[in-house]
Amino acid sequence: MNNKKFDAIVVGAGPAGSSAARRLCQLNRTVLLIDQAKFPREKACGGGLTGNVEKFLDFDISSVIETKVTSTLCVFRGKILKRLEPKGLNVSMIRRPKFDHLLAMKAKEAGAVFAENARLNKIMKSNGRYLVETTAGNFESSSVIGADGALSPTARVVGLRNKMKLGIAMEAEVLPRKEMLEKWQKLAIFDFGVVPKGYGWVFPKQNSFSIGVGTVENKFPDARKHLDDLIRRHECVRNPNGISIRSAPLPYWEKMQPLAENGVFLVGDAGGLVDPLSGEGISYAIRSGKTASEFINEFLNGVLNSDHGYTEEIERTIARNFEFAGKLASIFFRYPVAAYILGVRSKIVNDIFARLISGKIDYSILYEEIRSSLPGRAYRLLKPILSI
Ligand SMILES: Cc1cc2nc3c(=O)[nH]c(=O)nc-3n(C[C@H](O)[C@H](O)[C@H](O)COP(=O)(O)OP(=O)(O)OC[C@H]3O[C@@H](n4cnc5c(N)ncnc54)[C@H](O)[C@@H]3O)c2cc1C
Repeated sequence: MNNKKFDAIVVGAGPAGSSAARRLCQLNRTVLLIDQAKFPREKACGGGLTGNVEKFLDFDISSVIETKVTSTLCVFRGKILKRLEPKGLNVSMIRRPKFDHLLAMKAKEAGAVFAENARLNKIMKSNGRYLVETTAGNFESSSVIGADGALSPTARVVGLRNKMKLGIAMEAEVLPRKEMLEKWQKLAIFDFGVVPKGYGWVFPKQNSFSIGVGTVENKFPDARKHLDDLIRRHECVRNPNGISIRSAPLPYWEKMQPLAENGVFLVGDAGGLVDPLSGEGISYAIRSGKTASEFINEFLNGVLNSDHGYTEEIERTIARNFEFAGKLASIFFRYPVAAYILGVRSKIVNDIFARLISGKIDYSILYEEIRSSLPGRAYRLLKPILSI
């Protein structure tokens, strides 16, 4: 690599980092995008994309979509509820190696220099510039984007997001018996009421299923047991031809913390931008990556308070929605039976949920529907949790 000086160095080439790098290049900035992995790389993930993702991407991703689901099935404590086929459901399934590789190539196509096998070691500041030390060499920039995932080394090095709330998810990629794919490929299954403060899922892919369990708790000692139980409960993944298991932390959003300081900006999981109810993070990674780029552009133009502006913008566009999701999560995870009666079993709530995951509405609508359907006594009991 000849040029070692850039306007911005983006650490991490997941959806957040690649989206940020692409947008900065479109704004005529010079960008180095580094990742410790060699791409395509694996990443523990269900690979479910809500309709929000396509809103924030400026290119076609149909080449990496494995399947589009047309129906959802909710299961509560082993009891199978009605299969729903909501009109206009817009949920796609991807596999992360291919999806993330495409996004990184789109950043490269826009002009970013992409360095793989480049692990961040240190960030130092000297004369207002950042010196970034990696296993692939040392580089210099005026700004840094921390897009390096849930444990974000960038956040730690610069002292941002000291209080990280981490949940845990365990996921298996299952190679099923052939007939199971044909039967179950258009269906997303959500399994509630068993995993403590969390849920299980079964998401179809072209040749496999992603099945997993996630919790907002920071310890999940029985994860493997819950995963095995889930596999036993669902016909499509029972007696598979192959299985590979991985787990990873999930940085659920809890409260707003500063996400930028002096030209260092945190995006995606590094910024803790994971939906506290569903665990969705990909669309927020892409959105925050693009938003950060706009603010970094301002920062590089000399607008000095742009880092504060970024945190406020994330609060307005993402975290406000997470507040509603967090309130619902505190009821659903604390009172699973109430969640079943008010949410999982209700046709209206299910329809709203389908619109939510299709990216047509945000959590405030679902929240209002559930709140207004509460009987008087239950509302009085839950009022302290529900108030926003
Ligand atoms: C089991 C599981 C299931 C999930 N299912 C879904 C789902 O179905 N739908 C959904 O929307 N979200 C899901 N999520 C959340 C989603 O995976 C994340 O929110 C998303 O990956 C965030 O993207 P990101 O770009 O911020 O970080 P990541 O995708 O984690 O990318 C971070 C990158 O940084 C790199 N990196 C880390 N440290 C360094 C370093 N020191 N130097 C250089 N590079 C570094 C990593 O190699 C990685 O490529 C799931 C998460 C888990 C754990």
